[in-house]
Amino acid sequence: MIEISHLYKTYNQKFHALKNISLEINSGEFVFLTGPSGAGKSTIFKMISGYEAPTSGNIKVANYNLGKLSNKDIPFFRRKLGVVFQDFKLLLDKNVFDNVSLPLLVQGYPDNFIKRRVHEVLDTVGLLHKKEQLPECLSGGEQQRVAIARAIVHQPGVIIADEPTGNLDPDMSHHIIDVFEKVCAQGTTVFIATHDLEMVKKRNKRVIAIKDGAI
Ligand code: ADP
Repeated sequence: MIEISHLYKTYNQKFHALKNISLEINSGEFVFLTGPSGAGKSTIFKMISGYEAPTSGNIKVANYNLGKLSNKDIPFFRRKLGVVFQDFKLLLDKNVFDNVSLPLLVQGYPDNFIKRRVHEVLDTVGLLHKKEQLPECLSGGEQQRVAIARAIVHQPGVIIADEPTGNLDPDMSHHIIDVFEKVCAQGTTVFIATHDLEMVKKRNKRVIAIKDGAI
């Protein structure tokens, strides 16, 4: 479901952020990506989500070869993917409900389905009571949970989440990882970057460790 081979990312023609990364994550697997700050975790996620292009190497996600994506393919590829970015990337002029409903809206689901599904997901992340708030009225942890709700609402084939518990207290962090495990049990591939090794130890999942841009 995620296949990376011989991936290099070089910034400014001299700094090698990723060096010869190859990895394979099967459909329906739950995998943590760990490593210290600056190791290259976010860079890998930017490549997998197609937001930045590799310097060289191949990436295949949900049967799309990212090096060969045509403009026509991009919206279809995005539908297969749920992404939690480190900086959330919420739409600041839209309330919580509208942010979370976006992936369903672009796929043309009927209003009553969207309302039911968004309510269900907001309830799962404990934010139903904030559905009419704008992101600026939410704490960092609440904004992070909105981003998580938006990533799972359309039940994508693959979810990648960059430090999705970085702003959450320990109880909420465990709850959110439980949510990702539940989504995974329903067939979604889940790939989570974290530096929270205590969390990782408790979960007994496959771990890929990265340091200085190498696995
Ligand atoms: P992590 O997510 O593991 O903390 P990153 O993937 O954000 O690490 O960064 C890996 C390395 O690549 C860091 O040394 C960072 O400074 C560098 N880097 C990331 N993005 C850029 C960029 N756009 N230009 C130059 N260097 C970058």
